[in-house]
Amino acid sequence: MENVFQKASADIKAKVGEQQFGSWVKDLVFKEQAGNRVFIAAKDSFTKDWVETYYSHFILEALKKIDPSIEIVTFVEDAILTQPQKKETVAALEKADDGIDQVKSFENFVVGKPNEFAYAAALRVAESKKMVYNPLFLYGGVGLGKTHLMHAIALKIKELHPKKTVLYISAEKFMYKFIKALRFKNMVAFKEEFRNIDVLMIDDVQFFSTKTTTQEEFFHTFNALIDAKKQIILSADKPPTELVNIEDRLKSRMSWGLVADIHPTTYELRLGILQSKAELMHLNISDEVLEFMAANLSDCNVREMEGALNRVAAHADLMGRSLDVASIKTILKGVIKDTDRQMTIDEIKKRVCEYFGVKVKELDSAKRVKSITRARQVAMFLAKELTDKSFPNIGAEFGGKDHTTVLYSVNKVKTYLETDESYKSDVDTLRASLNLRR
Ligand code: ADP
Ligand code: MG
Repeated sequence: MENVFQKASADIKAKVGEQQFGSWVKDLVFKEQAGNRVFIAAKDSFTKDWVETYYSHFILEALKKIDPSIEIVTFVEDAILTQPQKKETVAALEKADDGIDQVKSFENFVVGKPNEFAYAAALRVAESKKMVYNPLFLYGGVGLGKTHLMHAIALKIKELHPKKTVLYISAEKFMYKFIKALRFKNMVAFKEEFRNIDVLMIDDVQFFSTKTTTQEEFFHTFNALIDAKKQIILSADKPPTELVNIEDRLKSRMSWGLVADIHPTTYELRLGILQSKAELMHLNISDEVLEFMAANLSDCNVREMEGALNRVAAHADLMGRSLDVASIKTILKGVIKDTDRQMTIDEIKKRVCEYFGVKVKELDSAKRVKSITRARQVAMFLAKELTDKSFPNIGAEFGGKDHTTVLYSVNKVKTYLETDESYKSDVDTLRASLNLRR
């Protein structure tokens, strides 16, 4: 019979990720359950510490789902568990990540509003002879291009300054090396390793250890590296100030240089990325199809968009012809939104705000700043045109405005459409991208 830990394992895997699961969780062994406590054994104390630090809460959460009475997980060390494949894990972790992906260059990075600041900052750090910001801290949601930008910096530095040494390493690997050095009292050797490096990049620092002693030591090492004029580049899924379990002074140290954020994609950026990737993949795909995808993959990050494009490419290849919107709908079923439903005012507002760079809150407000008024009027106009809502209904959905306001806006837009070409092109673009979602 399966024990609770085995039963929970699929769930744990989903939470921690396939690779981490394989490296750390797979070989743990369930020992016993005593009351509200579950004992799980690791093959050595290092693994035990590691799992305790990084994975215990995921494991506990998953166990609770199987058996709600479980409240505590205790990890124990069990030398008998030593298994040969563990060695490979360690070897893989010890290898520095310096094989750099040539595709992840600045040239292949599509720039748009959401990432232009991070892009400019990264390029500046890569190109300038002097140290401009240290550290550079890039943050943003998953799959939005942080790792890509780090690789791009590394490639550019290698191109411009071939003598410089660059080390790119995931936070997990960095911590692994670091904790090991601490444990075996090898700190001197650890620091020595970084002595000859000019640029140190640590990716995904939200995975830094939560232990105070580790952080204490890390703080000093970090300072020493900066004092030694090493360029440091960090990435995370949130800004330094919002990282959890990280000491305040370390957070503040991380914010000393420049903190640059990457926002979720907009329609324009998605379209640009799809066009660029389709070209890189030598895909024969029409603009209409790419526009449809850009409009409908609105909740996807770039990595997911790449996945969708690969699926489309595989189908096009199999069928030996390029694809139209109807077949794309079938291929991407489940990824794209439901296609036969009414458009909502929320969708229109969201899309219009994205386009004009204003906030939905501002549309609903009574603010009369020019840019907001323009976005509000266009949104009301499109709401009237694309939904079957009445003037009072529309007014209500824009922060409770009077129907006369809506009527006024709609008429205003009509006049502009006849007299202002650029205005007309804004409205046409918005209407087209909204219609594509249907
Ligand atoms: P993150 O590290 O933020 O999770 P990645 O850098 O791994 O995200 O990006 C996910 C995928 O999307 C990668 O294959 C990357 O090359 C691609 N990607 C992300 N942003 C862009 C962009 N602006 N232009 C081109 N490709 C991008
Ligand atoms: Mg990444």
